[in-house]
Amino acid sequence: MYWRFSGAVLATAEGSCAMEFSVIGQLPLLRSDVQVSPFADRSSSIPKFLVQAGGSSFVINGEMRDLIEALRSQPETLAELAEEFRARSGKTANVETLRTVLQTRLSPDLFQNQPKQQFTTPFVVSGQILSGPLARQITKRLTWLFSWPVAALSVAAFAVVEYLIFTASFKNVTADSSFLGFLLLYAAVALGGLIHEMGHLTACARNGAEHGGVGVGLYLVFPAFYADVTSAWKLSRWPRVSVDLGGLYFQSMFLTVVGLFAVFTKSMAFYQINFFTLVLMLFTLNPALRFDGYWLLVDLSGVHNLAARRSAMLGGIFRRKNRGSANAALDADTKALVAVYTGLVFLFSIVLVGLTAAATYRIAVQYPGKVAQAAKAFSAALANGKGFKSLTSIGALGTDTFWLVSVVAFLFDLTKRSIHYASNQPS
Ligand SMILES: [Zn+2]
Repeated sequence: MYWRFSGAVLATAEGSCAMEFSVIGQLPLLRSDVQVSPFADRSSSIPKFLVQAGGSSFVINGEMRDLIEALRSQPETLAELAEEFRARSGKTANVETLRTVLQTRLSPDLFQNQPKQQFTTPFVVSGQILSGPLARQITKRLTWLFSWPVAALSVAAFAVVEYLIFTASFKNVTADSSFLGFLLLYAAVALGGLIHEMGHLTACARNGAEHGGVGVGLYLVFPAFYADVTSAWKLSRWPRVSVDLGGLYFQSMFLTVVGLFAVFTKSMAFYQINFFTLVLMLFTLNPALRFDGYWLLVDLSGVHNLAARRSAMLGGIFRRKNRGSANAALDADTKALVAVYTGLVFLFSIVLVGLTAAATYRIAVQYPGKVAQAAKAFSAALANGKGFKSLTSIGALGTDTFWLVSVVAFLFDLTKRSIHYASNQPS
């Protein structure tokens, strides 16, 4: 997963974004680092522009661009702003319209002395673990991994190792299910996540876009890493696609190493790291969530608001009234793409649900037996006065318990979200 810090803002760029300043009296001062550049969006024939200021990015139309350029000349009154706007766009806007636009349509991030918008992550706790400068020191040494020959070799090696793993006979695999083994598994899967983020950042560095650092948050019971690749918006289509895939690419290299250990040592621990990491990678690719799979489709297609368009299209099917103009400028290609996107969402959901259900069923069926076994070992160890040994017998249930708790926590979260989503549907 990674975070494009602008994602949420992009969604509101065409909607409303409350700005807390008084337009009576002085007009707000535009930040000095506001940059406007053309933005490639195939979804409409209307030219779009990318605005960047500080750490934020927005997509705007031509009129908004003219307004921002008009603000750059630092007009003191709305009337002066209207005049500047007319000079640039050739269109007349009345003072009241401009006041409304300034208050509701422009992000406070574009102006000086505005309270910084709090960036919200879906995590209860989160914090930076690798600063931007430090991350850049690392990624500049790894950019060679994104050359074609290295990438082709890595992906081929990954495919071979995964083939060996999935065709391996589990009879020879030694089961290691100690509590320490569980902690190592948790740490190794988390390490894979960290490496994944470095992949996104390295792809950024390879394409000459400055990137930020890496943060970590807690999503339910999983550590979830995120990387600041906001400046990826500046890149063109294919470099952006490489940023989207960079995370999975690095994670696959990590799995190649893990897989080789699994094949040669026949230790269950490595097979488990491989399995959990693969599930996570699939999860990340699911375009239903705003993770890598979603951004990959967005960048491949050049349609920057796929999710909104899907909702609009589905809404159009179920409702006579089509809200707004989300579908107005949709060409046949884009419609086909949104359909493909919707299909992929279903496909990924089915694969993930199937995989999770199968693993959960197997674990759940064996679980009561394992609990009984652990309880027996626990009391036996206690009776013999071996305190530590009694702990290991409980610890042996660690991985299975963690899996079951994760699944229940995730289902609970999903149900909560679904109810929330359903109750927020416009009628
Ligand atoms: Zn990612």
